[in-house]
Amino acid sequence: MLNIVITGAPGSGKGTQSDIIIEEYGLTHISTGDILREEIKAGTEAGKKAETLINEGQLVSDEMITEMLRQKINSVTETKGFIFDGYPRTLAQVEMLDKILAEHNTSVTCMIQVEVEHDTLIERLLNRAKTSDRADDNMETIKHRLEIYHTTTMPVMEHYKAINRFTSVNNNSTVEACYAQTKAAIESYI
Ligand code: AMP
Repeated sequence: MLNIVITGAPGSGKGTQSDIIIEEYGLTHISTGDILREEIKAGTEAGKKAETLINEGQLVSDEMITEMLRQKINSVTETKGFIFDGYPRTLAQVEMLDKILAEHNTSVTCMIQVEVEHDTLIERLLNRAKTSDRADDNMETIKHRLEIYHTTTMPVMEHYKAINRFTSVNNNSTVEACYAQTKAAIESYI
């Protein structure tokens, strides 16, 4: 199985890169942000717990998000692999993901980081906020989410770097230029 962890600051374009990877490699997309938004929409207990934290740009608990992730993975009966979008975001989640994948006799193939210059990021996020119905797309939350991204997620990247399963691609120009780097990175791990 091909299991890719994709990461990038909010607005980095990791969603678009994910879509292309999924199409090309036949992977199943798991976005923990999407799972949480579905829970909120459905008005579940977990969704209610998560809503305030999400709106403040805080992370939800490792245990809660991992349980949701486990259920999602277990519900997939046939796939060539997964692309994890927005997970793992902490070192505890790295361990939890390894454990879940080991139960399925598989492991993380690599982590891809989609990088964009800071000013371009802010510009893209503010543009997205104009048409988005996401309550967390405002300047204050964006700043906080970027801060959290940098402080909390860095150790996760360092972990995959340390085990030689990390590649950073830049998305400052076009989607295609970025995907060329993404594809080359994936191929180097297969
Ligand atoms: P995203 O769509 O990935 O930017 O996620 C939106 C929000 O959901 C984040 O700002 C967090 O509050 C929450 N969230 C998503 N994934 C995780 C995760 N792996 N761990 C903790 N919180 C998460």
